[in-house]
Amino acid sequence: MGRLARVSNFLDWRDRMLRAVWRQDDSLPEQVLAWMSEVYEESGEISGEEFCDLWTTRTFSLARSAFEVIRESVLDDTGKRIVGEEFSYVNYFRDPEFGPVGVVRFKSAEVSTPDWTEVLGVVAEGVQEFVMDYYGTVWPVCDRHSFGLHVDYLHETAVWKCHAGPAGGHVVRALDPSIRL
Ligand SMILES: [Zn+2]
Repeated sequence: MGRLARVSNFLDWRDRMLRAVWRQDDSLPEQVLAWMSEVYEESGEISGEEFCDLWTTRTFSLARSAFEVIRESVLDDTGKRIVGEEFSYVNYFRDPEFGPVGVVRFKSAEVSTPDWTEVLGVVAEGVQEFVMDYYGTVWPVCDRHSFGLHVDYLHETAVWKCHAGPAGGHVVRALDPSIRL
């Protein structure tokens, strides 16, 4: 098969898979599209049902990793633990009535797209809410202004942003401490 035919088959398959997960490609981050290419390279034209399973598995797996990163970050900043059984506060569910793929829910935050940046942002918001409800603590806080920080997105990185300051706010740091901005 020629290269053009292969590309056209891939794009065709990708369209079908995006319809299967109820998404449109113009709304998807590069990371997710790149992952779809890898899936296609490895497994070829899998069915929509199989793809929904992979999508869900990947979303759940990213959420577990994100939870670890954020939990460490809370511990470093506040000395407080996100208590409970390992993942008892992260709720995964899959209900055909709500869509073809699984949803990760933590407090009022939820995500159903296997995109690391979005998953990390959503899990951070859920943990932030938990820290407030459970410990009555604002986390994280801007050292300069003492304001609580908010999740924001800078290019393809999830960041903590402070809304205070003359420029209408400033980015404080990446959610993932291993990323230096
Ligand atoms: Zn600030």
